[in-house]
Amino acid sequence: MAIPTIEDLAGRVHGTVVTPEDQGYDEARRVYNGMVDRRPSAVVRCVNAGDVLATVGYAREHGIDLAVRGGSHSAPGYGTCDGGVVADLGAMRGVRVDPTTRTARVEGGATLADLDAATHAFGLAVTGGVVSTTGVGGLTLGGGFGHLARGLGLTCDNLLSADVVTADGRLLVASEHEYADLFWALRGGSGNFGVVTSFEFRLSPVDLVHVGIFFHELEHTEAVLRHYREYIATAPEQLGAFPGFQIAPPLPFIPEDRHGDTFVIVVACWSGPPDQGERAIQPFRDAAPVAFEFTSPMPYPALQGMFDALLPPGLQQYWKGTFAVELTDDAIAAHAAHGPKVPVVNSTCHIYPVNGACHRVAPEATAFSYRDANFATVIAGVWPDPADNEANTAWVRGYYDALAPHSAPGAYVNFMDGDDQGRIVDNYRDNYTRLVELKRTYDPENLFHVNHNIRP
Ligand code: FAD
Repeated sequence: MAIPTIEDLAGRVHGTVVTPEDQGYDEARRVYNGMVDRRPSAVVRCVNAGDVLATVGYAREHGIDLAVRGGSHSAPGYGTCDGGVVADLGAMRGVRVDPTTRTARVEGGATLADLDAATHAFGLAVTGGVVSTTGVGGLTLGGGFGHLARGLGLTCDNLLSADVVTADGRLLVASEHEYADLFWALRGGSGNFGVVTSFEFRLSPVDLVHVGIFFHELEHTEAVLRHYREYIATAPEQLGAFPGFQIAPPLPFIPEDRHGDTFVIVVACWSGPPDQGERAIQPFRDAAPVAFEFTSPMPYPALQGMFDALLPPGLQQYWKGTFAVELTDDAIAAHAAHGPKVPVVNSTCHIYPVNGACHRVAPEATAFSYRDANFATVIAGVWPDPADNEANTAWVRGYYDALAPHSAPGAYVNFMDGDDQGRIVDNYRDNYTRLVELKRTYDPENLFHVNHNIRP
C-alpha cells in the first residue's frame, strides 16, 4: 500500500489540515508557552476520533514525530514538534453531563472551563486544576489536582473510562473492566499510551465555594508556611488551600500604592456546607497578620477562572516541580530565601496539598505513584519578555536547587519541564517497571514520545 500523502490525509479527515503553505500556519503551530517555536509539517485540527486515528496512522506510516495537543498548556510545549505532525484536539471540547448517574463525558481537547461550566449547571464538579484554560487531557493523564483534591482526590482518580486511539490504530475503551492495564497506565502515565478522544468522569456535588485569599507581608513567610503545614495536615477535607508567593496585581482589594509589591499569600477554597466556610478559613487569618484579604462565596467555576488573567497564552514559561512528604523547616527556609525574589507578576511558587482523598488510593493502584506525598510544589516561571529569559529561568532553577535537597526525588509530571526527562524514573518509582512493560504492549515503537517519555 502506498504511503499516504498530506493530501491523502487532508482528504480522509473531517477537520482541517494546516501546512506551512497555508495561511494560519503560524497560529496553528503556536502553543501556550510563547518560548516554544517549532515548525511541524502539518497540524491536523481533529474533530472526531476518526480524524485522530487517521493522524496517528499517518505519523506511524511516515515514521515522523507525532505531537498530541489537548489544552496546549504543557510547559515544555509537547503539544507541537519540529517536522512531524500535530494531532490538535482543540476543536474536540464537547462535554455531556448525565446528572442521574453523576457522570460526564468529556472530549479530549476540552479545557477545565468547558468541563466546569457544563457540570456546574447541575451543581456537580470533578476535581481539576486552578486555572480554567488548562486542558483536561494533559492534566488528567498526568494526575490532576486543584482546590478540591483533598476531598475528591486526583482528577485521574475520578476517571471511569477513556476512549483511546492506540499506536497500532485501534480505538479502545479502557476502564477497570476492559483493558484495565491500559486504564491503569493512563492514570498518571501522561500521554505515553495513546490519544484519549473522550474521558468519562465521576462527578461530585460542588456548587458555591467559600473563597479566601490572604496577602501577608513577607516578614511573616515562615509563620505562614509553618501554620499551613500544621493546619492542612488535619483540616477538614472540604478545605483546599495553598500558599504561594505573589507580586500584587492591581486588584480592587489591594491599595494602589502596594501594587507591584511581593507578598506571601494563601488561597483557600471551602467546598463544604456554606455556613462553615468562614470557620474553616479563619485559621489563615490567625496564623499571621493579614495585609489584605478577599473573601467571598462564589460559584466554583468563578474561582477556577480567577487567575486566568495573570496567565494569558503566549507568555514565556519555564517550570520545575517537587513532591515532599514533609514541609521541613529547611524547606521553609529555602522558600523564604527564594519565594520573595519572584521576578514578575505572572510567576509564582505554589505549594499544593495532596493529602486527604489523594492518599486513599494505593501507590500501585494507578500509575501516579506519589500517594505518600503531602505537598506538590510548582515553581512556575512565567514572563512576557523573551529578553528576560535568562533571569527568569535562573530564578526557577535557583529556587529548585535550594528546594531539591528537602524534597522527594520525583515530581509531578505536569510540573516538569523539558530538561526533566532524566527524572521520569524517579517520578514513577515502583510503578516504572510496569509502565515500561505496558509501553512495550501498547506502543512498542514509542510513537507517543513527544511527552515526558516512558521508553519501551
Ligand atoms: P497539552 O500541552 O495539550 O498536553 C500536555 C501533554 O499531555 C502532552 O504530552 C500531550 O501529548 C498530552 N495530551 C494532552 N491531551 C491529550 C489527550 N487527549 N490524549 C493523549 N495525550 C494528551 N496541573 C494540575 O494538576 N493542577 C493545576 O492546578 C495546574 N495548573 C496549571 C496552570 C497553568 C497556567 C498551566 C500552564 C498548567 C497547569 N497545570 C496544572 C499543569 C497541567 O496539568 C499540564 O500543563 C498539562 O499537561 C496540561 O494539559 P493540556 O492538555 O493543556 O496540555
